[in-house]
Amino acid sequence: MPTLDLANAKPVVKPAAAAAVHALPAKPSLVGLDRAGLKAALEAIGIEGKETRMRVSQLWGWIYQRGAKTFEEMSNVSKHLRAALVENYTLDRPEVVVEQVSVDGTRKWLMRIPPSIAGEKWHEIETVYIPTRDRGTLCISSQVGCTLTCSFCHTGTQKLVRNLTAAEIVAQIIVARDRLGDWPGQQPPEGAFVPDDGGRFVSNIVLMGMGEPLYNVENVTAALKVLLDQDGLQLSKRRITLSTSGVVPEIGRVGAETGVSLAISLHAVTDDLRDELVPLNRKYPIADLLDACRNYPAASNARRITFEYVMLKGVNDSIDDAKRLVRLLKGIPAKINLIPFNPWPGSKYECSDWEQIERFSEIVFDAGYSSPVRTPRGRDILAACGQLKSETEKLRAKERAELMSKAEQDAFRAMSMVD
Ligand code: SF4
Repeated sequence: MPTLDLANAKPVVKPAAAAAVHALPAKPSLVGLDRAGLKAALEAIGIEGKETRMRVSQLWGWIYQRGAKTFEEMSNVSKHLRAALVENYTLDRPEVVVEQVSVDGTRKWLMRIPPSIAGEKWHEIETVYIPTRDRGTLCISSQVGCTLTCSFCHTGTQKLVRNLTAAEIVAQIIVARDRLGDWPGQQPPEGAFVPDDGGRFVSNIVLMGMGEPLYNVENVTAALKVLLDQDGLQLSKRRITLSTSGVVPEIGRVGAETGVSLAISLHAVTDDLRDELVPLNRKYPIADLLDACRNYPAASNARRITFEYVMLKGVNDSIDDAKRLVRLLKGIPAKINLIPFNPWPGSKYECSDWEQIERFSEIVFDAGYSSPVRTPRGRDILAACGQLKSETEKLRAKERAELMSKAEQDAFRAMSMVD
């Protein structure tokens, strides 16, 4: 298995070929659709009755088990149907505009996705692959930009443009598997760092990229069901973690419907400070958030809720903060990820000193909680936590609203409100 030569590797940037970015795609892609979406696509080209179910299963296997890129290779699909599929649909994925590879093997892809409404620009989202020897974690995005303006987060400085569709969320995994050669019979790119334990190169998924997943809960839930399908992408609910800043009303629902693991971006132990670091706290304060965690259906001592805590020097890293954190989490099956702050251009915070992080970690550990300090990954390509932000110009929220129908505008405003 190829391994990364850490001593000599350098970050690389590979711009993709220029593309026409303002036109709507001529034909829709089937990549990322759930079974109902595939059924509707088949019915639209005249496949009916019992045949539909069989054809959905065939397409499902080709797209999600084998990573098919063309209809022509679908050897068990009739010639007539293949021709109809070619005429009406594609298997296009989001285009990778830039691929960056960190010296530590982390990969960041800037992907371009088509507009969802006529007149809109194409959008760009970021997806990050973080390999270790025994797992390959893919950090995926759920929105273009984010409404939540967490003050330590670079992604939060990019305004929300729109929610990703379920298919666009799923397609990020398809692209990652394409780029890593993570389909049957394929090989990873020369020199790529991928797990060497014999499992899939993309084995774990975290919804921690751009956006707040629970502000796009319908599409996120639908996408998770595609990822979890054991006749398709075959990911395990134990290996998928949804991270939220604390959209309290949706936490129980997504847990009941999908059973995935939960992570909470906590970052502060008093409402005053959390109001500043995670402004959503003004709407759903710490006590309400922790109640939702206590009732999370998929949590147990074997599957603990992860509390993310970014270490900000002189802000949230005191010994008192650590002790209060321990008191707050009492009764919740929890583990705490301490995240050294990743500076980004213009950020007002500094990372806590290493000795202080260790003192903080010891207090949490002595209270019986696992408290690993997360090793920053992909810092040289701005792929580490809180650093994602696509760099190209986008339609701002207001411009986009002008293109939307009234109903869409109302939904968009409701989603964007944090008070
Ligand atoms: S931490 Fe998450 S929710 Fe907060 S601004 Fe960043 S992307 Fe949005």
